[in-house]
Amino acid sequence: MLEVENLSAGYGRGDVIRDLTFTATKGELYLLLGANGAGKTTTFRVITGILPPSRGRVIVEGIDLWREPEKAKMKIGYLPEGERVYPNLSVYRNLLLFARLYGVAEERIKEVLSEFNLKEYKDRKAEELSRGLRKRLALARALLHEPEVLVLDEPFSNLDVPSVISLRDKILESLDEGRVVLFSTHILSELQHFEGVRCRVGIIRDGKLVLEEKLENLMSLLSSVEVVLVVNNLQRALQVLKESGYDARVEGRNIVVSVSNYTSEVPEITRALAENGVGILQVKPKKVPLEKLFMDLSKQDR
Ligand code: ATP
Repeated sequence: MLEVENLSAGYGRGDVIRDLTFTATKGELYLLLGANGAGKTTTFRVITGILPPSRGRVIVEGIDLWREPEKAKMKIGYLPEGERVYPNLSVYRNLLLFARLYGVAEERIKEVLSEFNLKEYKDRKAEELSRGLRKRLALARALLHEPEVLVLDEPFSNLDVPSVISLRDKILESLDEGRVVLFSTHILSELQHFEGVRCRVGIIRDGKLVLEEKLENLMSLLSSVEVVLVVNNLQRALQVLKESGYDARVEGRNIVVSVSNYTSEVPEITRALAENGVGILQVKPKKVPLEKLFMDLSKQDR
């Protein structure tokens, strides 16, 4: 478990995160969502023991991070923003350095290399790897000492689709293994991929936690949305949808349908159209739902 209590911190000219309180439990994903400069990285620097807080406490599995830093840090794995690995060192040596720092047996490096499919690159310098591979190495390093808490700063930025998918799988695996996983993102649509996972979202704005909600509740706040369909036969699609009881209209060269539950109704709509011979070229929410939510929240005065 990770407990963050009334945490404030800054860089010498006043606090940039203020009075943050949240708890993340075993097997739970905690997503810190916020715009650039909101304070996500600063928060993660404090909870991983890099930046001292000006106030408040961080308790990792019952240990006060800033009172017993060595002991608490053993329980935390951190993937910083970007691919912070030693560029001049080989993949193996990057891992070895951390293994020595954390008192991990060299045997474990072999395990990690094969778990992360890095075996064939083990003698390559980190700077020669693609960004996706470097990220994989950084994640392997964060998990080398089998920490209870995994903290990932903007893990999905600048990755191609296969790397995103494999990283997502690793996150889910870590949760199954009983870890606490925290990650920060400003890529709102990323959250939708974690539906069905035990997950809470903390929204941070100007260094303050302005909302904390279970992911499923956030999604249901967005239950009423419009869906845009690009189809090969507008009139036929409109007829089918109306006959199926949907509130649909033509807008330009698209069909727009109102749905009350995005997750369950979109598959029904596409099935109805396909069964009636309408080809579907594209389906998308009229506004990215979480973006809309984020805009709404940002507008609120607090
Ligand atoms: P991003 O998504 O852009 O990384 P973030 O939410 O992670 O943003 P932080 O990097 O934590 O935000 O920045 C929060 C505030 O602290 C910003 O106003 C930023 O300018 C400031 N800040 C961050 N790092 C430093 C630093 N090393 N020295 C001084 N100010 C800093």
